Amino acid sequence: MENVIIIGSGPAGLTAAIYTARANLQPLLLEGPQPGGQLTQTTDIENFPGFAEPIGGFDLMMNMRQQAERMGVRMQMDELVGCQLAGPTKRLQLAAQGALEARTVIIATGARARYLGLPSEEQLKGRGVSGCATCDGAFYRGKRVAVVGGGDTATEDALYLSRLASQVFLIHRRDKFRASSIMAERVQQNQRITVVWNSVVEEVLDVRQNTVTGARLRNVVTGAVSDLAVEGFFVAIGHTPNTVPFQGQLTLDPDGYIVTERTRTNLPGVFAAGDVQDRTYRQAVTAAGTGCMAALEAERYLASCE
Ligand code: NDP
Repeated sequence: MENVIIIGSGPAGLTAAIYTARANLQPLLLEGPQPGGQLTQTTDIENFPGFAEPIGGFDLMMNMRQQAERMGVRMQMDELVGCQLAGPTKRLQLAAQGALEARTVIIATGARARYLGLPSEEQLKGRGVSGCATCDGAFYRGKRVAVVGGGDTATEDALYLSRLASQVFLIHRRDKFRASSIMAERVQQNQRITVVWNSVVEEVLDVRQNTVTGARLRNVVTGAVSDLAVEGFFVAIGHTPNTVPFQGQLTLDPDGYIVTERTRTNLPGVFAAGDVQDRTYRQAVTAAGTGCMAALEAERYLASCE
Protein backbone atom coordinates (compact mmCIF):
# COMPACT_ATOMS: atom_id res chain seq x y z
CA MET A 1 0.00 0.00 0.00
CA GLU A 2 1.34 3.42 -0.98
CA ASN A 3 1.29 6.38 1.43
CA VAL A 4 0.60 8.90 -1.32
CA ILE A 5 -0.29 8.55 -4.96
CA ILE A 6 -0.19 11.77 -6.95
CA ILE A 7 -2.11 11.82 -10.21
CA GLY A 8 -0.72 14.32 -12.72
CA SER A 9 2.71 15.65 -13.60
CA GLY A 10 2.19 19.38 -14.13
CA PRO A 11 3.50 21.97 -11.64
CA ALA A 12 0.86 21.01 -9.03
CA GLY A 13 1.61 17.28 -9.17
CA LEU A 14 5.39 17.67 -9.24
CA THR A 15 5.41 20.17 -6.39
CA ALA A 16 3.22 17.83 -4.31
CA ALA A 17 5.69 15.05 -5.17
CA ILE A 18 8.72 17.09 -4.11
CA TYR A 19 7.12 18.03 -0.78
CA THR A 20 5.83 14.53 0.07
CA ALA A 21 9.19 13.01 -0.89
CA ARG A 22 10.99 15.44 1.41
CA ALA A 23 8.54 14.43 4.14
CA ASN A 24 9.74 10.83 3.63
CA LEU A 25 6.37 9.59 2.38
CA GLN A 26 7.89 7.88 -0.72
CA PRO A 27 5.22 9.20 -3.11
CA LEU A 28 4.29 7.53 -6.37
CA LEU A 29 3.48 9.94 -9.18
CA LEU A 30 1.33 8.88 -12.10
CA GLU A 31 2.05 10.70 -15.33
CA GLY A 32 -0.93 11.00 -17.61
CA PRO A 33 -1.25 11.39 -21.36
CA GLN A 34 0.50 14.80 -21.38
CA PRO A 35 3.60 14.50 -19.14
CA GLY A 36 4.46 17.92 -17.74
CA GLY A 37 0.93 19.19 -18.34
CA GLN A 38 -0.27 22.28 -20.18
CA LEU A 39 2.97 24.22 -19.64
CA THR A 40 4.84 21.97 -22.03
CA GLN A 41 2.72 23.58 -24.77
CA THR A 42 3.76 27.15 -24.02
CA THR A 43 6.89 28.77 -25.33
CA ASP A 44 8.76 31.14 -23.02
CA ILE A 45 7.70 31.55 -19.40
CA GLU A 46 8.81 34.78 -17.82
CA ASN A 47 6.51 34.97 -14.80
CA PHE A 48 7.62 31.94 -12.82
CA PRO A 49 9.68 33.38 -9.96
CA GLY A 50 13.29 32.32 -9.71
CA PHE A 51 14.26 32.66 -13.37
CA ALA A 52 15.90 35.95 -14.25
CA GLU A 53 15.68 35.05 -17.94
CA PRO A 54 12.62 33.50 -19.63
CA ILE A 55 12.56 29.71 -19.55
CA GLY A 56 10.78 27.44 -22.04
CA GLY A 57 7.68 25.72 -20.67
CA PHE A 58 9.07 22.31 -21.56
CA ASP A 59 12.41 23.10 -19.89
CA LEU A 60 10.72 24.36 -16.73
CA MET A 61 8.78 21.11 -16.44
CA MET A 62 11.89 19.04 -17.11
CA ASN A 63 13.66 20.92 -14.29
CA MET A 64 10.77 20.21 -11.91
CA ARG A 65 10.75 16.57 -12.97
CA GLN A 66 14.50 16.19 -12.39
CA GLN A 67 14.14 17.88 -9.01
CA ALA A 68 11.40 15.38 -8.07
CA GLU A 69 13.53 12.46 -9.30
CA ARG A 70 16.47 13.68 -7.24
CA MET A 71 14.18 13.58 -4.18
CA GLY A 72 13.45 9.94 -4.95
CA VAL A 73 9.95 10.32 -6.38
CA ARG A 74 8.89 7.22 -8.30
CA MET A 75 7.09 7.97 -11.56
CA GLN A 76 4.92 5.74 -13.68
CA MET A 77 3.25 6.55 -16.94
CA ASP A 78 -0.23 5.12 -17.05
CA GLU A 79 -3.84 6.07 -17.57
CA LEU A 80 -6.32 6.16 -14.72
CA VAL A 81 -9.41 4.26 -15.84
CA GLY A 82 -11.29 4.01 -12.54
CA CYS A 83 -11.01 4.64 -8.82
CA GLN A 84 -12.64 4.02 -5.48
CA LEU A 85 -11.72 6.93 -3.22
CA ALA A 86 -14.03 6.56 -0.21
CA GLY A 87 -12.77 4.84 2.94
CA PRO A 88 -9.25 4.58 4.40
CA THR A 89 -7.86 2.56 1.46
CA LYS A 90 -8.04 4.31 -1.89
CA ARG A 91 -8.06 2.04 -4.94
CA LEU A 92 -6.93 3.20 -8.37
CA GLN A 93 -7.41 1.19 -11.53
CA LEU A 94 -4.76 1.81 -14.20
CA ALA A 95 -4.95 0.88 -17.86
CA ALA A 96 -1.60 -0.92 -18.06
CA GLN A 97 -0.56 -1.80 -14.53
CA GLY A 98 -3.86 -2.82 -12.96
CA ALA A 99 -4.87 -1.89 -9.42
CA LEU A 100 -2.96 0.25 -6.90
CA GLU A 101 -3.82 1.07 -3.30
CA ALA A 102 -2.96 4.16 -1.28
CA ARG A 103 -3.74 5.85 2.03
CA THR A 104 -3.95 9.26 0.38
CA VAL A 105 -4.41 10.53 -3.15
CA ILE A 106 -3.52 13.96 -4.51
CA ILE A 107 -5.37 14.77 -7.72
CA ALA A 108 -3.52 17.16 -10.02
CA THR A 109 -4.96 16.20 -13.38
CA GLY A 110 -5.28 19.78 -14.59
CA ALA A 111 -7.59 21.28 -17.15
CA ARG A 112 -7.42 21.88 -20.83
CA ALA A 113 -8.25 25.09 -22.68
CA ARG A 114 -11.04 24.63 -25.15
CA TYR A 115 -10.22 25.55 -28.73
CA LEU A 116 -12.42 26.22 -31.75
CA GLY A 117 -11.32 23.06 -33.52
CA LEU A 118 -10.09 24.67 -36.75
CA PRO A 119 -7.18 22.95 -38.53
CA SER A 120 -5.41 26.33 -39.02
CA GLU A 121 -5.77 27.05 -35.29
CA GLU A 122 -4.18 23.70 -34.43
CA GLN A 123 -1.29 24.29 -36.84
CA LEU A 124 -0.53 27.76 -35.46
CA LYS A 125 -0.64 26.87 -31.75
CA GLY A 126 2.47 28.39 -30.16
CA ARG A 127 3.01 30.49 -33.32
CA GLY A 128 0.50 33.20 -32.48
CA VAL A 129 -2.42 31.02 -31.35
CA SER A 130 -2.69 30.76 -27.57
CA GLY A 131 -5.20 29.59 -24.99
CA CYS A 132 -3.66 31.66 -22.19
CA ALA A 133 -3.47 35.47 -22.32
CA THR A 134 -1.59 35.85 -19.04
CA CYS A 135 0.99 33.28 -20.20
CA ASP A 136 1.64 34.68 -23.67
CA GLY A 137 0.25 38.23 -23.72
CA ALA A 138 3.59 39.91 -23.08
CA PHE A 139 4.86 38.72 -26.48
CA TYR A 140 2.34 41.02 -28.17
CA ARG A 141 3.38 44.35 -26.69
CA GLY A 142 2.37 47.09 -29.14
CA LYS A 143 0.79 44.59 -31.56
CA ARG A 144 -2.76 43.89 -32.70
CA VAL A 145 -4.39 40.84 -31.15
CA ALA A 146 -7.74 39.06 -31.26
CA VAL A 147 -9.57 37.32 -28.42
CA VAL A 148 -12.40 34.88 -29.14
CA GLY A 149 -15.22 34.39 -26.63
CA GLY A 150 -17.84 36.33 -24.73
CA GLY A 151 -17.54 35.10 -21.14
CA ASP A 152 -15.63 36.35 -18.13
CA THR A 153 -12.41 34.72 -19.35
CA ALA A 154 -12.58 36.44 -22.74
CA THR A 155 -13.42 39.86 -21.29
CA GLU A 156 -10.76 39.50 -18.60
CA ASP A 157 -8.22 38.44 -21.23
CA ALA A 158 -9.19 41.36 -23.49
CA LEU A 159 -8.73 43.82 -20.61
CA TYR A 160 -5.40 42.26 -19.66
CA LEU A 161 -4.17 42.37 -23.27
CA SER A 162 -5.36 45.99 -23.69
CA ARG A 163 -2.57 46.98 -21.30
CA LEU A 164 0.02 45.42 -23.61
CA ALA A 165 -1.27 45.30 -27.16
CA SER A 166 -1.88 48.31 -29.38
CA GLN A 167 -5.39 47.11 -30.26
CA VAL A 168 -7.53 44.22 -29.08
CA PHE A 169 -10.40 42.80 -31.14
CA LEU A 170 -12.85 40.80 -29.07
CA ILE A 171 -14.72 38.44 -31.36
CA HIS A 172 -18.02 37.13 -30.06
CA ARG A 173 -20.54 34.95 -31.85
CA ARG A 174 -23.58 36.76 -30.45
CA ASP A 175 -24.65 40.37 -29.85
CA LYS A 176 -24.60 40.08 -26.05
CA PHE A 177 -21.86 39.06 -23.65
CA ARG A 178 -22.17 36.07 -21.36
CA ALA A 179 -19.69 37.81 -19.06
CA SER A 180 -20.78 39.63 -15.90
CA SER A 181 -22.13 43.10 -16.58
CA ILE A 182 -19.22 44.84 -14.85
CA MET A 183 -16.72 43.06 -17.13
CA ALA A 184 -18.85 43.77 -20.19
CA GLU A 185 -19.00 47.46 -19.26
CA ARG A 186 -15.26 47.71 -18.72
CA VAL A 187 -14.60 46.16 -22.11
CA GLN A 188 -16.98 48.49 -23.89
CA GLN A 189 -15.48 51.55 -22.23
CA ASN A 190 -11.92 50.58 -23.10
CA GLN A 191 -10.59 52.60 -26.03
CA ARG A 192 -8.18 49.89 -27.06
CA ILE A 193 -10.80 47.15 -27.31
CA THR A 194 -13.05 46.80 -30.34
CA VAL A 195 -15.87 44.30 -29.97
CA VAL A 196 -16.65 42.38 -33.14
CA TRP A 197 -20.22 41.17 -32.54
CA ASN A 198 -22.08 38.32 -34.21
CA SER A 199 -18.92 36.91 -35.71
CA VAL A 200 -17.30 33.52 -35.89
CA VAL A 201 -13.78 32.65 -36.97
CA GLU A 202 -13.61 30.61 -40.13
CA GLU A 203 -9.84 30.34 -40.33
CA VAL A 204 -6.71 31.59 -38.60
CA LEU A 205 -4.33 33.15 -41.13
CA ASP A 206 -1.62 32.37 -42.21
CA VAL A 207 -0.64 28.73 -42.14
CA ARG A 208 1.53 29.26 -45.22
CA GLN A 209 3.82 31.69 -43.39
CA ASN A 210 3.72 29.52 -40.24
CA THR A 211 2.80 32.50 -38.07
CA VAL A 212 -0.46 34.28 -37.32
CA THR A 213 -1.15 37.25 -39.58
CA GLY A 214 -4.90 37.49 -39.10
CA ALA A 215 -8.28 35.81 -38.81
CA ARG A 216 -11.01 35.25 -41.37
CA LEU A 217 -14.35 36.18 -39.85
CA ARG A 218 -17.92 35.52 -40.89
CA ASN A 219 -20.73 37.70 -39.65
CA VAL A 220 -23.48 35.26 -38.67
CA VAL A 221 -26.23 37.83 -39.33
CA THR A 222 -25.18 39.22 -42.72
CA GLY A 223 -23.02 36.31 -43.90
CA ALA A 224 -20.25 38.79 -44.82
CA VAL A 225 -16.72 37.40 -44.72
CA SER A 226 -13.79 39.65 -43.84
CA ASP A 227 -10.14 39.35 -42.87
CA LEU A 228 -8.86 40.98 -39.68
CA ALA A 229 -5.11 41.62 -39.42
CA VAL A 230 -3.73 40.50 -36.04
CA GLU A 231 -0.50 38.93 -34.82
CA GLY A 232 -1.85 37.24 -31.71
CA PHE A 233 -4.95 35.04 -31.59
CA PHE A 234 -6.24 34.15 -28.12
CA VAL A 235 -8.97 31.59 -27.68
CA ALA A 236 -10.95 32.13 -24.47
CA ILE A 237 -14.04 29.97 -24.83
CA GLY A 238 -13.64 28.15 -21.53
CA HIS A 239 -11.62 25.36 -19.95
CA THR A 240 -12.50 21.76 -19.26
CA PRO A 241 -11.14 20.25 -16.03
CA ASN A 242 -9.91 16.68 -16.29
CA THR A 243 -12.27 15.15 -13.74
CA VAL A 244 -14.18 12.43 -15.59
CA PRO A 245 -12.76 9.55 -13.46
CA PHE A 246 -13.89 11.29 -10.26
CA GLN A 247 -17.50 11.99 -11.20
CA GLY A 248 -19.93 10.52 -8.70
CA GLN A 249 -17.31 10.31 -5.93
CA LEU A 250 -15.99 13.82 -5.42
CA THR A 251 -18.04 16.97 -5.14
CA LEU A 252 -17.65 18.86 -8.40
CA ASP A 253 -19.00 22.29 -9.26
CA PRO A 254 -21.44 22.68 -12.18
CA ASP A 255 -18.52 23.02 -14.64
CA GLY A 256 -16.79 19.90 -13.35
CA TYR A 257 -14.06 21.49 -11.18
CA ILE A 258 -13.30 19.66 -7.90
CA VAL A 259 -14.63 21.62 -4.95
CA THR A 260 -11.90 22.04 -2.32
CA GLU A 261 -11.35 23.68 1.02
CA ARG A 262 -7.61 24.28 1.43
CA THR A 263 -7.04 21.49 -1.14
CA ARG A 264 -9.21 19.03 0.83
CA THR A 265 -12.00 17.39 -1.15
CA ASN A 266 -15.22 16.04 0.34
CA LEU A 267 -13.49 12.67 0.95
CA PRO A 268 -10.95 12.34 3.79
CA GLY A 269 -7.47 11.55 2.49
CA VAL A 270 -8.23 12.84 -1.02
CA PHE A 271 -6.75 16.21 -1.98
CA ALA A 272 -6.79 18.23 -5.18
CA ALA A 273 -4.32 20.83 -6.44
CA GLY A 274 -3.78 22.98 -9.50
CA ASP A 275 -6.16 23.76 -12.34
CA VAL A 276 -8.41 20.77 -11.65
CA GLN A 277 -9.78 22.75 -8.67
CA ASP A 278 -8.99 26.33 -9.80
CA ARG A 279 -11.10 28.13 -12.36
CA THR A 280 -9.84 31.59 -11.46
CA TYR A 281 -6.03 31.90 -11.36
CA ARG A 282 -4.74 29.01 -13.50
CA GLN A 283 -1.08 30.03 -13.22
CA ALA A 284 1.95 27.75 -12.97
CA VAL A 285 2.93 29.39 -9.71
CA THR A 286 -0.54 29.04 -8.15
CA ALA A 287 -0.69 25.41 -9.31
CA ALA A 288 2.69 24.77 -7.68
CA GLY A 289 1.49 26.60 -4.54
CA THR A 290 -1.61 24.44 -4.18
CA GLY A 291 0.53 21.34 -4.88
CA CYS A 292 2.58 22.29 -1.84
CA MET A 293 -0.58 22.84 0.21
CA ALA A 294 -2.01 19.46 -0.80
CA ALA A 295 1.25 17.73 0.16
CA LEU A 296 1.24 19.36 3.60
CA GLU A 297 -2.43 18.47 4.08
CA ALA A 298 -1.74 14.84 3.08
CA GLU A 299 1.16 14.69 5.51
CA ARG A 300 -1.06 15.98 8.34
CA TYR A 301 -3.83 13.56 7.44
CA LEU A 302 -1.44 10.58 7.52
CA ALA A 303 -0.04 11.73 10.87
CA SER A 304 -3.57 11.97 12.27
CA CYS A 305 -4.27 8.36 11.19
CA GLU A 306 -1.33 6.92 13.12
P1 NDP B 1 -17.99 30.61 -20.29
O1 NDP B 1 -18.54 29.25 -20.56
O2 NDP B 1 -18.64 31.46 -19.27
O3 NDP B 1 -18.00 31.46 -21.63
C1 NDP B 1 -17.52 30.92 -22.81
C2 NDP B 1 -17.72 31.94 -23.91
O4 NDP B 1 -17.15 31.41 -25.10
C3 NDP B 1 -19.20 32.23 -24.19
O5 NDP B 1 -19.39 33.60 -24.45
C4 NDP B 1 -19.48 31.38 -25.42
O6 NDP B 1 -20.41 31.98 -26.29
C5 NDP B 1 -18.14 31.37 -26.12
N1 NDP B 1 -17.97 30.15 -26.86
C6 NDP B 1 -18.07 28.87 -26.40
N2 NDP B 1 -17.82 28.00 -27.39
C7 NDP B 1 -17.57 28.75 -28.49
C8 NDP B 1 -17.24 28.42 -29.83
N3 NDP B 1 -17.10 27.16 -30.24
N4 NDP B 1 -17.07 29.43 -30.70
C9 NDP B 1 -17.18 30.73 -30.30
N5 NDP B 1 -17.48 31.09 -29.05
C10 NDP B 1 -17.67 30.11 -28.16
O7 NDP B 1 -16.40 30.35 -20.00
P2 NDP B 1 -15.38 31.29 -19.26
O8 NDP B 1 -14.08 30.59 -19.34
O9 NDP B 1 -15.46 32.67 -19.76
O10 NDP B 1 -15.86 31.26 -17.76
C11 NDP B 1 -16.04 30.01 -17.07
C12 NDP B 1 -16.48 30.29 -15.66
O11 NDP B 1 -15.41 30.87 -14.93
C13 NDP B 1 -17.65 31.28 -15.57
O12 NDP B 1 -18.50 30.88 -14.52
C14 NDP B 1 -16.97 32.58 -15.26
O13 NDP B 1 -17.82 33.48 -14.56
C15 NDP B 1 -15.81 32.12 -14.39
N6 NDP B 1 -14.70 33.05 -14.46
C16 NDP B 1 -14.54 33.91 -13.43
C17 NDP B 1 -13.53 34.82 -13.45
C18 NDP B 1 -13.39 35.70 -12.29
O14 NDP B 1 -14.21 35.63 -11.39
N7 NDP B 1 -12.38 36.55 -12.27
C19 NDP B 1 -12.58 34.91 -14.55
C20 NDP B 1 -12.84 33.96 -15.59
C21 NDP B 1 -13.87 33.09 -15.53
P3 NDP B 1 -21.98 32.11 -25.88
O15 NDP B 1 -22.04 33.22 -24.90
O16 NDP B 1 -22.64 32.40 -27.18
O17 NDP B 1 -22.35 30.78 -25.30
